Amino acid sequence: MSETSGRPTFRFAPSPNGLLHLGHALSAFENRRRADAMGGRLLLRMEDIDRARCTPENEAAAIEDLAWLGIGFDGPVFRQSEHFAEYQAALDRLVAEGLAYPAFMTRGTVRQMVADHEAAGARWPRDPDGAPLYPARDRARPADERRALMAAGHRHAWRLDMAAALARIGAPLSWQEGTGDRTVEIAASPADWGDVVLSRSDAPSSYHLSVVVDDAAQGITHVVRGRDLYHATAVHRVLQVLLGLPQPLYHHHRLLLGPDGRKLSKSNNDTALRQLRAEGRSVADIRVLCGI
Ligand code: GLU
Repeated sequence: MSETSGRPTFRFAPSPNGLLHLGHALSAFENRRRADAMGGRLLLRMEDIDRARCTPENEAAAIEDLAWLGIGFDGPVFRQSEHFAEYQAALDRLVAEGLAYPAFMTRGTVRQMVADHEAAGARWPRDPDGAPLYPARDRARPADERRALMAAGHRHAWRLDMAAALARIGAPLSWQEGTGDRTVEIAASPADWGDVVLSRSDAPSSYHLSVVVDDAAQGITHVVRGRDLYHATAVHRVLQVLLGLPQPLYHHHRLLLGPDGRKLSKSNNDTALRQLRAEGRSVADIRVLCGI
């Protein structure tokens, strides 16, 4: 059931698989600022579907760091790990509509296939994040073969049949991106992502599937997140249309880069908020380090 308050609704959605760093602070400040400017709400969502890497300790640390920054949230914490049934229902629907297929190849098998292909001089297509597109083999399997492999207990993920999905939608997709004081229509290129993963053999959902289900369930009207997720919005639009979900407005903010020129990650421990705090930095310092 979708929650609608009638007020602009934003969310900050970290994954508690490590400590929050300066990049998270920038994103959380941006969300709070924009929500306040519109008299809106800001919800906190823990994107913790990866049960192996997301821990209660990291979640508690994130909540404490956000409180230290002075960023308040409206309503209780929403945890993806408490909503697996909803993601399963969305996946079931895509499977029933013939838009998803079981994918049996492990990451290692795909890596090997790509390496063999490239060793023979041909380039394997890659998605906007640089990952090789999933090979066509499983998509092409006849239904009885898929059933037999599943019945024999072969581990599998589920992937979206992107070509079938786009054929079903039948019209070019776009999204609304807020830039400055204007909103512009951005043409989406979902085919660039190939057959994205919807659930993994070790996790009952994927980022793409849960994020669209949750944005709708939480009544999110404004998605404010880092530029690293700009192109992924194309995938989110596909899933929103297929599942009949509303589309929020998007704003993808600048990223903070590390000394190596790459986006900050949880392995850049020197930018972890608690590390900076332990070194005696104030919240005002954090704002300066975030460039705000
Ligand atoms: N969980 C994602 C992250 O920590 C953010 C996802 C989103 O905002 O859509 O990068």
